[in-house]
Amino acid sequence: MRRISVFGATGSIGQNTLDLIAREPERYAVVALTGSSNVARLAEDAIRLRAEVAVTADESRLGELRDALAGTGIEAAAGQGALEEAADRPTDWCMSAIVGAAGLVPGLRALRHGGTLALANKESLVCAGPLLMAEARAHGARVLPVDSEHSAVFQALADNDPAAVEKIVITASGGGLRDWPLERLATATPDEAGSHPNWDMGTRITIDSASMFNKAMELIETHEYFGTPPGGIEAVIHPQSIVHALVQFRDGALMAHLGAPDMRHAIGYALHWPERRDLPVERVDLAALGRLDFAAPDPARYPALALARGVIAGGGLRGAAFNAAKEAALDLFIARAIAFTDMAGCVETTLDEMERSGCLDAATITLDMVLDTDREARARTRVP
Ligand code: NDP
Repeated sequence: MRRISVFGATGSIGQNTLDLIAREPERYAVVALTGSSNVARLAEDAIRLRAEVAVTADESRLGELRDALAGTGIEAAAGQGALEEAADRPTDWCMSAIVGAAGLVPGLRALRHGGTLALANKESLVCAGPLLMAEARAHGARVLPVDSEHSAVFQALADNDPAAVEKIVITASGGGLRDWPLERLATATPDEAGSHPNWDMGTRITIDSASMFNKAMELIETHEYFGTPPGGIEAVIHPQSIVHALVQFRDGALMAHLGAPDMRHAIGYALHWPERRDLPVERVDLAALGRLDFAAPDPARYPALALARGVIAGGGLRGAAFNAAKEAALDLFIARAIAFTDMAGCVETTLDEMERSGCLDAATITLDMVLDTDREARARTRVP
């Protein structure tokens, strides 16, 4: 039996992960499940999957979690320290699916067991890619991508020599506001930006998809994961979300990964790797689809992409500042303090201010530097 933990078990990725695990319970011993506000779901899943420990990040919910687990023999814990303690419990496979920079430290701790970290939490790679990868190397652990585009790149690369790669192309649906006239975008509400034509995801990532901050994060993620230089990474709009990524090799061959827009593809691939096992996902019917469309993203509609290219080119602590400023700007938009179209400007102002103060340059980054940069960028990101 494989010992596994799921961080962010109550979220969209977490629930899809548990769906796959629950289909073959004889294969897995569940160590830790974690959540935050959704204590009822956390407790129910911990009981259903016989977890050793259930942890809520929200300390004020500990009593509620304890009550829900009373008499089951499952440990209940709460808070940041408890999340870290849960990550310290040895596993063979751990899903990192907490949303935001809060996922970084548990992921780093889980790598110390030398097993597999299935990484959905893209923020970890964006704010501390070199640190995360160095930790994995130091402990003989493997980081497998769970973002659908990066799982697709990983699969399209297969056993090819990475030096033979000319370009990596990741696709973007363009989000829920793709067809809105540019001048109307400023009026978009969080509800409008938070509904997606193809993917069923958490609210924050759905809004990031509409602004393409999600794709911007993924450009940085591609660089951190595969070592691709900024000029070798491209994002294209593909409204059908069937082709997830393509790898172009130096001989001009373009290898694409196709699949239905269902996160259980990428989660299942990371769960079963290096095997391929049956997955309960819809099969793509090309004849029924009829066509696949691609278009270059309009830089005026998606200014986040240019910001990400600057982050990749500059390196150092720019990823940590970008991620934190992006999260803070998203909070302001969700709170209706700024317009949808103000988010990119807020992030750019924070990056410019921090650039001028010279605090983003670093040849080697440490966890403390990343956490300090995160705090400072959040504090600086405000209503213009
Ligand atoms: P959700 O918002 O659906 O779930 C987030 C999870 O994190 C929940 O379990 C939530 O608990 C928990 N959580 C929230 N805040 C904290 C905190 N401060 N500390 C610890 N745990 C916390 O997000 P998604 O599942 O959509 O996304 C998870 C990660 O995966 C993100 O990094 C996202 O970018 C990435 N990703 C998601 C994809 C998707 O299709 N959804 C696709 C590719 C990547 P609770 O719900 O109980 O409050």
